[in-house]
Amino acid sequence: MININEFTEQELSEYIESLGEKKFHAKQIYKWLHRVNVESFDEMTDISKSLREKLKINCYIDKLEIIEVQKSIDGTHKFLIKLHDNNAIETVFMKYHHGNTLCVSSQVGCKMGCSFCASTKDRFVRSLLASEIEGQVIIVQKYMNEKISNIVYMGIGEPLDNYDNVVKSIKQINNPNGLGIGARHISLSTSGIVPNIYKLADENIQATLSISLHAVTDEKRKEIMPIAKKYSIKELLDSCRYYIMKTGRRISFEYALINGINDTKEDAIALGKLLRGMISHVNLIPVNEIKERNYKKSLESNIESFMNTLNSMGVVTTVRRELGKDIDAACGQLRQKYLDKIDR
Ligand code: SAH
Repeated sequence: MININEFTEQELSEYIESLGEKKFHAKQIYKWLHRVNVESFDEMTDISKSLREKLKINCYIDKLEIIEVQKSIDGTHKFLIKLHDNNAIETVFMKYHHGNTLCVSSQVGCKMGCSFCASTKDRFVRSLLASEIEGQVIIVQKYMNEKISNIVYMGIGEPLDNYDNVVKSIKQINNPNGLGIGARHISLSTSGIVPNIYKLADENIQATLSISLHAVTDEKRKEIMPIAKKYSIKELLDSCRYYIMKTGRRISFEYALINGINDTKEDAIALGKLLRGMISHVNLIPVNEIKERNYKKSLESNIESFMNTLNSMGVVTTVRRELGKDIDAACGQLRQKYLDKIDR
């Protein structure tokens, strides 16, 4: 059986033709699947019964299922979503002044092993298909009954460790016959898989790149992010410069402030020196305290002076607004709870 959601519109039209039908039906079917989110072929009311029967025999519609929703008083909704093989992922809906934003997962579990992150505490299971990444947007948009205008690949998983499916999902999400969300409204966050940053730069997609930097020396970064043992900060920043040159897009650097680990004035100055002159933006994230680790948020006053130091050096810096504080907001927490609950 074929997972029909995995076809691009072009592939779908070739497939419809191979069934002895007119190609133009592809556009209708694509809309039913990627915009309306039908659950059965019989809901495709403008498609002939005979074509629907052919599709039923050969294909299935890959359904995601929402199994838990946590609502925050600030409007943030965190979804636990079940995949067809019973694996679970998380997706977070957030309300920002610039529109509704969805944070999607790209893998079940994560291989990266960052010490402060809950997503990586359990073993890596598998990468998501493009249709499972895109499906998170479709299913949550339907549930909320509100348009999602921005997408961030900042949920569970390392997007650049699932390169092909992630790039395909961005193209599917862009398709005006589907969700029609432009690449400029999509951000992809990476712990820094350098060769794939070069590859992404060459794709000619106008997505925003976010880099999880979190430390200013290789030594410190290696302590909290194992990927730093593979690529130095210099190599990482060189790939970022290439990305900026190819796409003209500003890069966003994420820096989780952990009390006593990476939040001194010297750290701020060193970060300013690293990024000065680059078309960039720094996003400071007071670290989300997770039960698996002993990390504490930096003090309010340290966060502010860290930001002020960077801004005074000409490096545009903001502190990320903490949404969903009253629910399991940090990446991977909800799935972790789910795994703790079920028999394994
Ligand atoms: N693997 C990708 C995307 C997922 S994480 C990446 O590393 O970028 C999205 C962002 O949340 C990353 O910047 C990550 O470092 C950060 N993050 C993870 N756990 C966190 C925590 N406990 N507190 C604050 N930020 C965290």
